[in-house]
Amino acid sequence: MSLTLRPRLDDHGLGLTGQRARDRLIQRLQAEGIRDPRVLEVMRMVPRHLFVDEAIAGRAYEDNALPIGSGQTISQPYIVAKMTESLIEPGIPARALEIGTGSGYQAAVLAALGIEVFTIERMEPLLRQARRRFRQLGLEGVRSRHDDGRLGWPDASPFPAIMVTAAASRVEPAWLEQLAEGGLMLAPVGEAGGVQRLRRIQRVQGEFVDTDLGAVSFVPVLPGIV
Ligand code: SAH
Repeated sequence: MSLTLRPRLDDHGLGLTGQRARDRLIQRLQAEGIRDPRVLEVMRMVPRHLFVDEAIAGRAYEDNALPIGSGQTISQPYIVAKMTESLIEPGIPARALEIGTGSGYQAAVLAALGIEVFTIERMEPLLRQARRRFRQLGLEGVRSRHDDGRLGWPDASPFPAIMVTAAASRVEPAWLEQLAEGGLMLAPVGEAGGVQRLRRIQRVQGEFVDTDLGAVSFVPVLPGIV
């Protein structure tokens, strides 16, 4: 396996945010059924504590969603692992579109696998912080955009992989259009506050093959930019 992590990615972490806490999280993810060694390895290496406020950094390696400000959350590590595992199951895609940059953690995990990431966030303060983290970790290759992710990223499409990390009330037509032939999209679909279903949509010979991967709970996809 070749990871494209730069040494800087591993230079952080002491005490509660250190390697022991990370190793415990990885054991827990394994116990919960995450099997792909590539996913376990990147999640051990990407410093999740740098993607949350310093005040709660000590909780970064618990398997919980955590607040990241502006009413948004960084997804639970198990969900990040599960979605990443599903996305790379057919092979690691060269490029991926992410809707909902949030803290930037999911984008960093994908980038650390060697994927060229295009990520869209509607809330500027979150995007600014995420960009600072990408720079800090040497992940300058992550491309990000302040925009309404419902429109996708037409000029960089088609994408062999699309990951939506907020709950959509529907699968947006733009995402389907921008999914490459043979490509794979993961999207939580359902009403905010309620339980949503994680859908895996593969484009096979022009058709969309839709599989239900189970119940998830994400903050909603909202319209417009702020
Ligand atoms: N992937 C993130 C989790 C993000 S939470 C992480 O790893 O931290 C969902 C994010 O989606 C929030 O930051 C929210 O602002 C963003 N979002 C919601 N609707 C959006 C839209 N229409 N376009 C882009 N981003 C959106």
